[in-house]
Amino acid sequence: MKEYLKHNYHCSICGKAGVKLWRPYLHTEPLICANCAEERQALRKYNVCNWEHSKCAIVGILTGKEAFLDKWIINDKGQIPSPFGPEPEGVPNLMTYKLLVDLRDYYKEKSPIVITLIPAIPDDNGEFFGYTSLPQQASLWWENLPTH
Ligand SMILES: [Zn+2]
Repeated sequence: MKEYLKHNYHCSICGKAGVKLWRPYLHTEPLICANCAEERQALRKYNVCNWEHSKCAIVGILTGKEAFLDKWIINDKGQIPSPFGPEPEGVPNLMTYKLLVDLRDYYKEKSPIVITLIPAIPDDNGEFFGYTSLPQQASLWWENLPTH
């Protein structure tokens, strides 16, 4: 990692360093740690499904109802359950690295500033890798940082 980033890879809100950090999608700042993201998670709804079991598949039938997702806690890999709502019983939840947070306090606004955060993974040029162009080595470096 370039010196610039070594000195600046800390949370823009609480200052914590040596942990995984996220950044807004398409922006390089602020950098946000897991604790600060968890405290600022945006309320989010999903479409409630009824699950129909056929011979070879479980199909979700939309009920037309919405419900709020549970609050998330980021796991050791830096992931949270996907925003599509709970999977049918016995099926593990899909996971995502993307966090939806409300940064109104950071931006000193009164109304919600809801932002998608993605992993902030530095490249060799002092910038960050795009979400879809991550070399495995870089994503492993990030994944091995402590989450909290
Ligand atoms: Zn923080």
